[in-house]
Amino acid sequence: MITIDGSEGEGGGQVLRYSAALSLITGEPFTIENIRGGRTKPGMMRQHVTALEAAAAIGGAEVNGLAVGSDHLTFRPGSVTPGEYHFAVGTAGSTCLVLQTILVPLMLADKPSRVVIEGGTHAMAAPPFEFIAQTLLAVIAKMGPSITATLERHGFYPRGGGRIVVEFDPAPLRPIECVDRGKPVSQKAEAVVAGVPHDIADRELSAMQKILSDWPQESFVPRQLSADEGPGNALLIAAEFEHVTEVMSGFGKIGVPAEKIGKTTAKRMAGYLASGAFAGPYLQDQLLLPFALARGGAFTTVKISQHTRTAIDLIELFTGTSFRVSPGEGKAHLVEVAR
Ligand code: AMP
Repeated sequence: MITIDGSEGEGGGQVLRYSAALSLITGEPFTIENIRGGRTKPGMMRQHVTALEAAAAIGGAEVNGLAVGSDHLTFRPGSVTPGEYHFAVGTAGSTCLVLQTILVPLMLADKPSRVVIEGGTHAMAAPPFEFIAQTLLAVIAKMGPSITATLERHGFYPRGGGRIVVEFDPAPLRPIECVDRGKPVSQKAEAVVAGVPHDIADRELSAMQKILSDWPQESFVPRQLSADEGPGNALLIAAEFEHVTEVMSGFGKIGVPAEKIGKTTAKRMAGYLASGAFAGPYLQDQLLLPFALARGGAFTTVKISQHTRTAIDLIELFTGTSFRVSPGEGKAHLVEVAR
């Protein structure tokens, strides 16, 4: 039984989700205390409960202490059973973070799976659907498993109501080298609005254009969804290179000017572009688990995040596999599976 202090390192939901994923993969039970102890409102929120329910359902696990507000739980995994699953967060809590919990166990199962998840698809502090589909799953496809994600309906904070469908065609993970992002292929900066005034999108697009000033005019596009998918507003900036597509995102928030959201999101992309690295600030921690299980490989990335440091420690604790992090060329860092 592994014991985890959920307040250590990043101290957020990721500690809980990655522990559950690692427990399903290794068969090692764990107990965790101080869940999300590093957050202003500690304990499990609805989205974390759904993520753990999903892990328990696919992995035949026995879980004690699983409830909204609970700050501890014990998880005893059974064996992973691929198949058809449906999980609903019931709030705007992130569908993509529920997916993060079961992604690696199902991609390594012995048969295909199809999973429907309902909840939020575009909200702060979580991967938007496009990041999962275009960035993360595209890198994983190079490692072997083929996973297709479809967005059936957007779900914005606070209403939720989004729906994603994820189809898994499992395969063993092979190590890959993701050091070079390759030449630029295409660029797109999208301002998505649903049930909010269209001029918000226009103001966000012109703020983004000022920062990403060498991108062609036609890369900046407004996208209006039907009002019943909203209210909501998301910025999705995608830079496609030969070997990776990075998606940076920003989300409209009441009281924050559209110009500010546009500027902050575009600056995040500008920072990534200037770094020359393969992986941006969020792909970083999400690549660690597949890389560790492939038992090799390396990627370059931007400044190492606290999420990444925390995931490295957890992976080492459950699997014994460690990572070496060293300065790379220019502003990039190199993350390698240590063998
Ligand atoms: P936590 O804050 O502990 O709940 O973990 C959040 C997870 O979501 C981490 O794996 C982050 O890398 C990921 N994440 C947060 N924001 C984004 C974003 N804008 N794009 C992609 N992934 C994100």
